[in-house]
Amino acid sequence: MTRNLLGPITTLGCFRHRTGDIRMHILQSAAAISFSRSYCCALPRPAPHRKMGKNKKSSVPPEEHLLLPQHPGRPNPASAPIVDTHTHLLSTYSFYRSKYKAGKYETVYELVRALYEGRGVEAIVDVYCEATEDNTWQEVADSALTEEDRREKWGGLEYWFVMGVHPHEAKDYTDAIERKIIEAMSHPRCVGWGEMGLDYHYDNSPREVQQNVFIRQLKHAVRLGKPLTIHTREAEEDSERILKEHVPKDHRIHIHCYTDSPEWAARMLEHFPNLYIGITGVITYSTNVNTSEVIRRMAASSGAETPLRILLETDAPFMTPSNIYDSLKGLKGRLPHSHSAMIPWTAEFVAGVADEAAPEGAGWDTLKVMRESRDNAKRMYGV
Ligand SMILES: [Zn+2]
Repeated sequence: MTRNLLGPITTLGCFRHRTGDIRMHILQSAAAISFSRSYCCALPRPAPHRKMGKNKKSSVPPEEHLLLPQHPGRPNPASAPIVDTHTHLLSTYSFYRSKYKAGKYETVYELVRALYEGRGVEAIVDVYCEATEDNTWQEVADSALTEEDRREKWGGLEYWFVMGVHPHEAKDYTDAIERKIIEAMSHPRCVGWGEMGLDYHYDNSPREVQQNVFIRQLKHAVRLGKPLTIHTREAEEDSERILKEHVPKDHRIHIHCYTDSPEWAARMLEHFPNLYIGITGVITYSTNVNTSEVIRRMAASSGAETPLRILLETDAPFMTPSNIYDSLKGLKGRLPHSHSAMIPWTAEFVAGVADEAAPEGAGWDTLKVMRESRDNAKRMYGV
């Protein structure tokens, strides 16, 4: 079963999520495939700036459109490599298979090589956040152990991962799952613990259970010296209290897919000197104003020595940046999922917001945002 996503399509089967949610039923009809929102930062899918058009039935464009052109502000990809600090690779691949049943990429590696080669995608941090004892993670992580394998299987991509239990699934956290995560932490490609945290928007697990499981995971991660990938939504007070109580000030923290208040971000950035704010394509949606405000405040107060403390991420398969369609003129419809090569469009949007707010001459552009956040990814995850 672990070959599902990794081997040829002819061997693909399915595995059933332990809560009974059919996750990756790759050869089944689209109707049979359901994706738990726990994969991502779990916003209701925000409305992009542009309207979807009148057709209710959204058609999926030919898969060639997933192969992106170079971003106009970054014609030479090597000049500012992409590091996607939060992506769900296997669910992105499942999503791709569900949308393109006769799709040409038969393994996750083929998809990665096709979408990322030549686009300057240098590294990704893949996220496992389900409460499951499934061991697919190990097969994927082991396939990135040697430089030769990374070159041949991954097209030179530096594959890294983090693992934890999402607050949605806190109710399913067990000692056995915890042991599995602790074991994964010693894998040479593992760079952190998460995503974990609190989500009071959906309340998919009782709040008290979410808090207990969050604290349990934090204690282990801190003890092991592992960087933290945090998911927090509409739980500012409790997330702040728990983090300040259980995490040393200088610990490395990534608040992923940030959508909460600018004030909360400011307080956390001040208290934790090695904390970074994760920016996904959600910043480009008109339904979201907080994330741009966070950038605005950082840029307004930052001198050359205190750059934007952000990490760029996709949270793929979700959060396709809405400004990407400006570069895809021939495209009819919407792309069915996001992927790491979309990062420059998020960077472009961040640059626009930062440049407006920054003191004159700060010169924020796509390349500068990408380079700053690339440096931050190194500080945060060592990747
Ligand atoms: Zn995520």
